[in-house]
Amino acid sequence: MTKDHHHPHPESAVELRARALEALLAERGLVSTDAIDAVVELYEHDVGPQNGAKVVARAWVDEEYRARLLGDANGAIAELGFGGAEGDNMVVVANTPTIHNMVVCTLCSCYPWPVLGLPPSWYKSPPYRARAVSEPRAVLGEFGVELGDDVEIRVWDSSAEVRYLVLPLRPSGTEGWSEAELAAIVSRDCMIGTAVPRVLDSAAG
Ligand code: FE
Repeated sequence: MTKDHHHPHPESAVELRARALEALLAERGLVSTDAIDAVVELYEHDVGPQNGAKVVARAWVDEEYRARLLGDANGAIAELGFGGAEGDNMVVVANTPTIHNMVVCTLCSCYPWPVLGLPPSWYKSPPYRARAVSEPRAVLGEFGVELGDDVEIRVWDSSAEVRYLVLPLRPSGTEGWSEAELAAIVSRDCMIGTAVPRVLDSAAG
């Protein structure tokens, strides 16, 4: 099997259970492996952080859209054609020069799938889930985000009811950029709050 090639680490209990469940459902004819593959394909290629990045870029160039996004995230996100499972009640929290938002799910791995795709493994890890709350500034430092002492960190606990998305600050040096150019600097982590968009010297001007 090529399994080890893709998963050098031992499979977690959850991964083993998911695979056992998938095998059982397929064996009973309750779901086809094609259907499962289609879902995986969807989240690998069509649904991912590129969706959220488009939302952020639109909010950066359109003040009215930004207001709608902060007031009714689901409605504003649906305007761009995104929505669906695991994103029934999204809330967008905006960074400001003095407030930095970051998102965690302390219980498990709740995450806004329609705009970010599937969560990264570190987001699901017990250390991140605990430390994002107990020492967010240290965690951000490990992600390479150094915030001034005057910046308040707000940690939002996602749940089955509410999925948070961070609207990062638009960096200076991006004046006049197109939405596509702006979206390109909005990474997944920027929208979880463990990174901030950066303008590389080579991309500036
Ligand atoms: Fe969760």
